[in-house]
Amino acid sequence: MLGPIQRIETPMHRFSEAEEVDYVIVGVGAGGGVLLQRLARAGFRVIGFDAGPFWDTERDWVSDEKGAHNLYWNDLRITAGRHPLAFGANNSGKGVGGGTVHWASFAPRLHPSDFRIHSIDGVGVDWPISYADLKPYYELLELELPVSGPSYYPWGDPHGYPYGPHPMGGVGDILIRGCTKLGIPVSAGGPVAILNGSRADRPHCIYRGFCIQGCKVGAKASTLITHVPDAIANRAEIRPNCMVSRIHVNQQRRATGVTYFDSQGREHFQKAKAVVVAGYSIETPRLLLNSACPGFENGLANSSDCVGRYLMAQAGNVVLGRFEELVRMYKAPPAHALTEEFYETDPKRGFARGFAIQTVGPLPISFAKQMMTAKGAWGWGLRSIMMDYNHWAAFGFLGEILPHPENRVQLAQEKDRFGLPIAKVTFNLGDNDKKLIEYGKNKTMEVMSAAGAQEVVQEARYAHLVGAARMGNNPETSVVDRFGRTHDIANLFICDGSLMPTQGSANPGLTIMALAARIADYLIQQGGLIFESEKRTMETPPMRRDLSPPDTWGHGMPRL
Ligand SMILES: Cc1cc2nc3c(=O)[nH]c(=O)nc-3n(C[C@H](O)[C@H](O)[C@H](O)COP(=O)(O)OP(=O)(O)OC[C@H]3O[C@@H](n4cnc5c(N)ncnc54)[C@H](O)[C@@H]3O)c2cc1C
Ligand code: SF4
Repeated sequence: MLGPIQRIETPMHRFSEAEEVDYVIVGVGAGGGVLLQRLARAGFRVIGFDAGPFWDTERDWVSDEKGAHNLYWNDLRITAGRHPLAFGANNSGKGVGGGTVHWASFAPRLHPSDFRIHSIDGVGVDWPISYADLKPYYELLELELPVSGPSYYPWGDPHGYPYGPHPMGGVGDILIRGCTKLGIPVSAGGPVAILNGSRADRPHCIYRGFCIQGCKVGAKASTLITHVPDAIANRAEIRPNCMVSRIHVNQQRRATGVTYFDSQGREHFQKAKAVVVAGYSIETPRLLLNSACPGFENGLANSSDCVGRYLMAQAGNVVLGRFEELVRMYKAPPAHALTEEFYETDPKRGFARGFAIQTVGPLPISFAKQMMTAKGAWGWGLRSIMMDYNHWAAFGFLGEILPHPENRVQLAQEKDRFGLPIAKVTFNLGDNDKKLIEYGKNKTMEVMSAAGAQEVVQEARYAHLVGAARMGNNPETSVVDRFGRTHDIANLFICDGSLMPTQGSANPGLTIMALAARIADYLIQQGGLIFESEKRTMETPPMRRDLSPPDTWGHGMPRL
């Protein structure tokens, strides 16, 4: 069961281990889930491995903050550097659907400028593709999830959304009030991948606010409910609770399959003609590094020494304001209004690039943690703040941190229960990052005050890890080419957020899925060449709109 009325009726196809499948995909999250569905629909024999469970959302999920703790990758990771990142509930998922199970589902696009920040602003690096390359895929994924939003979205490449905006919650009303007072344009009701009307076997949103806990209703999009059912209907196999430990490469420098541990801890080998890694920006580089072997002593696809480097997180400070009136910030999807008015570089501000301001709706446990950090609240003081919870509103400031080579994933000395070295993640801010955070945090607090808050506090944090196996045209400074193919191994691909050379200040999920759909079109166009040839065609593939999951077409509101 994937919600109260959506269910998978098709029995899952099973490949035998002796069988050489076409593709093995490691990780069925945002990127892996979309790719799996496309390849299966195009007739490839494909297995998706995921280290976590295949959720039965009726049985396994609860609309409760604490009860949803197991949606995250909670295994030990080492965090290091002058500005260390928090792990656990702050980043990746574990289980079919990956991080899209617990994402808030804000789904903005990157701006055209994001693909050329080195050319425009002299910082970071340019992407090997342009916004125009990704635009049709953004439009397609906005229909597939689908994304609700205003009919005219004014920032970046202005566009409209196929499904109309959601009604406002208390926090959205406050963001609109604060922005309006300051003359800042604001988008109300999205863009967010949540249904505002029922569609096929998915019901509409009921505005109870448990989106980050998975959305037991099935109104919020995740690849678990939008793409995986169609993959299974098209004979893909998913092996849940299977942790891939190594990618094997033969003497001809071609990937031959993967070793994995099943739920009982037994080791297996699955043969494949090609391997795709889609395990998130920490586990993807970790797997490539853990797969070091003769000929690839520094890890697979790492001749550039870029595997694990240029890891990025967005600055994600939470700004909280106390209001005289009741806000009840739990009563709506946390993601429902935002402004991108500060997204682009403004030389007057003294730093490159920018930020977005978005609604967030922390539930009580997160709110308590934020108040401990922001106000040092504890004991009776914390109890009295918690009793006041319904008067507080929260905004998230989402700021672009630039890619730095020393921000990286490496292997630690410590090992996990399978004996595999765990990830050590080092993170430091640069000068531009610090200036941007200071300015953006203050601007977000100004908006909260302008809305009429009696008290405004903030908690510093980071969100949305991407990068660490970036794409580029130059094999000396990147890991994969513009179609996700590793420069070093012709039948080894990457298809997740690790690909991103820079991150903008848009939430990354939609971009990761759009990139995955584009990579799928490339693999489908190349057909058998991927399995037997070293030749790398760099022609843009035709777009395969026909491979969308059913119910993509003929719904929503056509918008100019
Ligand atoms: C609380 C929260 C809210 C968020 N809200 C938003 C939002 O509103 N909008 C947005 O765009 N983004 C949001 N994000 C970020 C978004 O969830 C991620 O950017 C996105 O899911 C990353 O996609 P991915 O494909 O890189 O990896 P994931 O989606 O994390 O998928 C990776 C999968 O690989 C599996 N895996 C990893 N290693 C292995 C292995 N060795 N063997 C087998 N399986 C493996 C994992 O179990 C996982 O299922 C949010 C994140 C968090 C934590
Ligand atoms: S608010 Fe809507 S999208 Fe969020 S959990 Fe509830 S029904 Fe799902």
